[in-house]
Amino acid sequence: MPKWLRAVLGGLAVLLVVAGAGYYWFIVESNMPSDAGYTFDIGEVRRMVAAVPGDKPERVEVEKIAAFSFPATAIVAGDGWTQRDMPVFSYRLVYPRRTVVIDTALSADLGGDNLVSFDPDAYARMTEAMAGASLIVITHEHMDHIGGIVEHPDLAAILPNTRLTVEQLAHPERSAPASFSDGVLDGYEPLDYEKSIVVAPGVVLIEAPGHSPGSQMIYVQEADGTEILFIGDIAWHYRNIVTQRERARLVTQFFLKEDRTAVFGQLAALKRLSEAEPEISIVPGHDGEIVGGLVEAGVLTEGFDLAVMETEASAMQ
Ligand SMILES: [Zn+2]
Repeated sequence: MPKWLRAVLGGLAVLLVVAGAGYYWFIVESNMPSDAGYTFDIGEVRRMVAAVPGDKPERVEVEKIAAFSFPATAIVAGDGWTQRDMPVFSYRLVYPRRTVVIDTALSADLGGDNLVSFDPDAYARMTEAMAGASLIVITHEHMDHIGGIVEHPDLAAILPNTRLTVEQLAHPERSAPASFSDGVLDGYEPLDYEKSIVVAPGVVLIEAPGHSPGSQMIYVQEADGTEILFIGDIAWHYRNIVTQRERARLVTQFFLKEDRTAVFGQLAALKRLSEAEPEISIVPGHDGEIVGGLVEAGVLTEGFDLAVMETEASAMQ
């Protein structure tokens, strides 16, 4: 073999090894770090709920507002390149005399070309539901959860009932391209809490920074005892919890700037919770199968029924 050919082949071999290592590190690797730790104390959460009197939610509704589509490995590292659905949801808790909206998706404008589908009727129902809600909370400050607030046509009217946290507003770059216009948040007092807080009967916010600084889980206990835990984007799909695998590092490091170790700790805590308390419905941020299954099981009701709310509201007067 001529010397030059040997040199070329040697160079190619080095390149392949480097490329292979890079591919593994950024696309495939997803081992649980040894220092990952997060405590989820369901007993404490239930005690907090029990200590706050008042009617609890009677049903939980869901709207599918839009959908992204990501390669599988972006969702669960090492899962390959098949495209997977990433639906975007909004939820509404219906009480006898009030409603609470959880997560507000995003407008078609904000989603732009990133969306593979958008339901303008569902978005309109959510917008109207937000106007009538006594409380609006979000799992985190990313555009596909805060977008409906930022873009709301009557932001001044809904802001007093919107409980964004200090952490969710401290990093506006994390919400981009969603952003509040200059001045609209003047005088707004964000929610400041440590660890967990009851914000309505049967509803607890639980700090879980990692996917974003303002990430929190939202625990809901209905009047009949049904428990639902909205975990935002700690996991995009339930498979993250089952396999204990994170998104590809390319996504968490460069696009999301996640605290990967923190998210791993939360995935481990959620797996322990799911095994210890299988009756609790854990709802990841963008899992159409899980949400569809909960609709079939009657845990979630499809669509925000605004007509019923109007009747209930007028009946109270
Ligand atoms: Zn999301």
